Parts: sequence; structure tokens; C-alpha cells
Amino acid sequence: MRCLALVLLTSICQAAQIRALIIDGQNNHQWQLTTPLLKKALEDSGLFQTAVATSPPRGADMSSFRPEFEQYQVVISNYSDFGGGGVWPPETQAAFEKYLRAGGGFVTVHAADNAFPSWKEYNVIIGLGGWGGRDENSGPYIRYRDGKFSRDMTAGKGGHHGRQHEFQLTTRDLKHPIMLGLPEVWMHAKDELYDSLRGPAQNLHVVATAFSDPATGGTGEHEPALMTIAYGKGRVFHTILGHGVEAIECTGFIVTFQRGVEWAATGKVTQKAPSDFPGAKRVSIRP
Ligand code: ZN
Repeated sequence: MRCLALVLLTSICQAAQIRALIIDGQNNHQWQLTTPLLKKALEDSGLFQTAVATSPPRGADMSSFRPEFEQYQVVISNYSDFGGGGVWPPETQAAFEKYLRAGGGFVTVHAADNAFPSWKEYNVIIGLGGWGGRDENSGPYIRYRDGKFSRDMTAGKGGHHGRQHEFQLTTRDLKHPIMLGLPEVWMHAKDELYDSLRGPAQNLHVVATAFSDPATGGTGEHEPALMTIAYGKGRVFHTILGHGVEAIECTGFIVTFQRGVEWAATGKVTQKAPSDFPGAKRVSIRP
């Protein structure tokens, strides 16, 4: 009897876990190194049961790549076709849009917002993107000036970054579930700070910015760094952070990622603020 109870309890616990799917297989970044870290971050929280869908390699036929999005509460992209990689087949694109419109969750990590410049709905889903020929036809830049966000339709390229360095993030919505209880300003480990992203920016909410310092080749603007997007009944969390291993081992990256994935999946965050979260001037690493 005790054994049966344990089996039942175990199955209930597993059923309660959030089913997450990470997509990788092509990226101009080292997805072979970073996907295991993203998976570990989710599993360390104890909240997620995480699978990985790896696409055919670059140059191969993509027509067989059809992840079963409906089997998951949240999909995380560590995928980019930047520089001539594979675009998902039309059936997969349609299934992904349908999944999100019906209330699915999606998280785009770093270079996943470089992907698919010509896939219209993907750009609505991610809100802002970079490179791949993006420009004023892709949508506005989002500026934060005088305490307000605005849309800037100035002509110019979408997507750029200066030299990698440690930089501060500043929360612009302290009450958002992803940020609630975390320090307002925190120092991120060495990473690429994307700037000048452009996109449709519909139903886009910037929850944190990072100052892109001209001294490191940046814009002098407070760039959107952590964002949410509403798409149909679906929820999207967009983090520009996570270029490589060093950035992904940052406690600030890990915690905002864990919380962003939970929020995208359920609309809530049950995770407590950890004691090792970085301070305004102190990087914190979980190697
Ligand atoms: Zn990068």
C-alpha cells in the first residue's frame, strides 16, 4: 500500500510539473553548450519537466521538423536561422502560431530574436528583433526617455551590439510577476547588450532595460532587455540576454529566465527571490 501511495504521489508530482520544450539545432551561437545550461536552469527550479527538440542541421531538409507544441505549456527558442540557416517549414510555422494564439507560452532567448526576419507572425510574437535586414519597415525602435517608452520610426538598421561587458539591468515594472521581489537594479555578467532592435512591438511591455553605454560601443539609450508580449491568448517572454556560457551562468540570467518561463507557461510566478541574486554592482555566478 505504501508503495502504491508513493507511486501515486510521484505521478501527481510529475503531473504538476510544467512541461517545457527547448528548440535548438541551428544558431550562430553555441547552442550545443547553452541548451544544457538552459535545461539545467529549468530543472534546478524543480518546476519543469524539460524536453529538447533539435532540428536537422544547417543545410539539411527541414520538412520533417515538426515539434509537437501542443504537448507543452511553454516553448523556449534557442534557435536562429541567421546567416542562411533553415526556416521552419510552413506547417510548423502555422502550428506554432496556432499553439500560441490558443494560449501557449513562448520564450525567446538572445539570438532567437535574430531569427526569421521574413516570417511576419514570428516578428509579431517576439515584438522586437535584430539583423537579417531588419529596418524601419520592420517597425519602430522602442525608446525609454524621461521615464516613458515611445516608438521611434527613425530610419535605420535593426539590431546591433557593442563590446561584451558586464552591465546593469534596471526594472521598469517592479510589480510584474517576473520581477516582483527582485532588486530594482542588478549587475549582469559579461554578455552582449543588444541595441536598436526593431519590430512590430504590438502588445509589448518592457519590464527591464539596460543602458547601452557609448563607451562600449553602444547607443546611449536605455535598451529594452526583458520584455513580455501578449499574442492572442498566449504569453511571450523575451530576454535579450544569454550570448554564451558566461552570461547564462549569471544568477540574474538564471532567475529571470526561470521566472519568465514560468510566467509564459502559467501567467504566474511562484518562485521566491533567491539570496544569491546579484546586487547593483556585484555580479553573481552559479557555475
Ligand atoms: Zn550573441
